[in-house]
Amino acid sequence: MIRREDILRIMDAVRIEEVIGDYLSLKKRGSNLIGLCPFHNEKTPSFNVSPSLNIFKCFGCGKAGNAVNFLMEYEHYTYPESLRKLAAKFGVEIVEEEMDDDYKEKKTEEDQAYFVHEFAHKWFEKQLWETKEGMSVGLSYFHERGLSDAIIKKFGLGYSPNNYTAFADHAHSEGFDKETLAKNGLISGESGNDRFRDRIIFPIFSISGRVIAFGGRTLRTDAKIAKYVNSPETPIYHKSNVLYGIHLAKNSIISLNECYLVEGYMDVIAMVAAGINNVVASSGTSLTGEQIRMIRRYSTNVCILYDGDLAGIKASFRAIDMLLAEGLDVRVVLFPDKEDPDSYSRKYSAKALMDFLANNKKSFVLFKAEIMFADAGDDPLKRAGAMKDIVHSIAEIPDGILRSLLVAECAKLFDIEEKTLMFEMNKILRTKAKKLLKPEEDPGLEIEEEVPEKQQPIQGTDRQEESERNLVRMLLLHGDKVMKFQVVNEFGLTEIHEKYVAQYIFNELDADGLKFSNKGLARIFDACRIQSEADGVSNTSRILNMLDPNTTNISADIMNSLYALSPNWQKKHGIFVSHTENDSAILISEVESAILEFKHLVLVHRMDEIRHELQSELSEEDQMIKVHEFQMLKTIDVEIEKKIRQRVISS
Ligand SMILES: [Zn+2]
Repeated sequence: MIRREDILRIMDAVRIEEVIGDYLSLKKRGSNLIGLCPFHNEKTPSFNVSPSLNIFKCFGCGKAGNAVNFLMEYEHYTYPESLRKLAAKFGVEIVEEEMDDDYKEKKTEEDQAYFVHEFAHKWFEKQLWETKEGMSVGLSYFHERGLSDAIIKKFGLGYSPNNYTAFADHAHSEGFDKETLAKNGLISGESGNDRFRDRIIFPIFSISGRVIAFGGRTLRTDAKIAKYVNSPETPIYHKSNVLYGIHLAKNSIISLNECYLVEGYMDVIAMVAAGINNVVASSGTSLTGEQIRMIRRYSTNVCILYDGDLAGIKASFRAIDMLLAEGLDVRVVLFPDKEDPDSYSRKYSAKALMDFLANNKKSFVLFKAEIMFADAGDDPLKRAGAMKDIVHSIAEIPDGILRSLLVAECAKLFDIEEKTLMFEMNKILRTKAKKLLKPEEDPGLEIEEEVPEKQQPIQGTDRQEESERNLVRMLLLHGDKVMKFQVVNEFGLTEIHEKYVAQYIFNELDADGLKFSNKGLARIFDACRIQSEADGVSNTSRILNMLDPNTTNISADIMNSLYALSPNWQKKHGIFVSHTENDSAILISEVESAILEFKHLVLVHRMDEIRHELQSELSEEDQMIKVHEFQMLKTIDVEIEKKIRQRVISS
């Protein structure tokens, strides 16, 4: 048990940005830090960390909390485990009164799995370092491969002896039952024999460095024995979202802003031994979307290391297109024939390997183009095919500027007219855009800046516009003012939290993914956001400087109609608006009312749309989906209307 006063001391010492910074690459934005959310899949960051409030919040999926919540959610630590980790990280000494029951007795399947993996790992390491067989077979093999003791320990390498039940017997004697061992892939469910028998062991770690699986490699040359045996999928191991070496690599990937991607365990270890730490392997699977997104959390620059096998390289092209599609900048290094990072660094030196990597990086697209054009030779048909294929790869890249640059470069290199490549690429982009729309809504669409408005609002346009105007007015007039909230924290203590009005409005709208429907007002709103995020605080004159003259007029208009709420709003709710806008309580109330009204109108609009859609012919399933959505919106709206009424009564 951790004493209450220690909990308070820990929470005082915690700097949330340092805790989360161990897991994600965070960038400064205003007074906050922002990064890609680890709890849902996203390409533009909406995961906010506030050092001043010591909390995080994701505006994409809604996950929020303090450092303890983060560790519990991300690492699956229990509450006391999280506190102990934080105490250790921030040097807070704690007095343990007695062991927690739930600390010893792992409750969930996941907790059990972590526990048994840690247990097995210790045993495999002990076999390698302390037994005769382990030293003469395993350790001597690692030494032959040029690994130092320090590197062997860094990667936690181990050994499993040539004995059918050595591990199982040991585990049983320590109280682990057969079911738990089998479920975690350590023994066979049928025979009860050791899965990794007679192999050197590569433990596989989670991002935070907990052992979650094992890879076992045989040292025998018998072709009947599988070279590698890996852990099966378990409660804590899903191989499609694991990268080998990520726990050691993540900090250096962030600081060097690049990630090397290699093929096997030994390649990762050899690179690290040569002093290159920003390296991971997709180990055992071809690259998956989850793995790519994991890399992208730390850096958008990936460099793939290929050994010289051309057939293998070509086979991987499609998978690499996935990296481009996820917005990553992909570079490639091709090793000379029969070499890989491991063999290269052993044959030459660590320094030679570093130089080789530095001097041989190529853009993936150009690399692919080179190979395909070399293959095609002078055959015009093959050349056309190669060109199409490469343009396909370029079309995967979400960034338009980068696409144009690559097209220009390819055109120059392969002596093709840029226009021809552009034409080809636009064709692909158009097809892609069409696929995103329903087939019947496609009247030969051209690529446009904006997707055409789907449907005009059915009713309430004026009120909605008025409500948007009102929010913009709040931003321009009050964006830089501070709102104070009373918040009850997890210890039941009341705290005062502060937030700028602008920040509050952005957060509220982002949390529900709400957008303005009036384009002019949306431009002002965006300008407010860009300015306030860049400078940390809203500054009206700077915002006005950013706008084009026409939009500036709108905003000046808005500011002139000082404090006047929408006429509809006043008629409907009979609110009396005070002019003492400096009073924080009234300001909060005004801002919240404006947000509530806006949310209410968006909901009403969408519900009207659904009513309309339900009148058209729909399949039964689509009808059910729509009715379900309607009911959900209605429930939310009832809550909002309730809040609106409460405000009217209390003001
Ligand atoms: Zn999220």
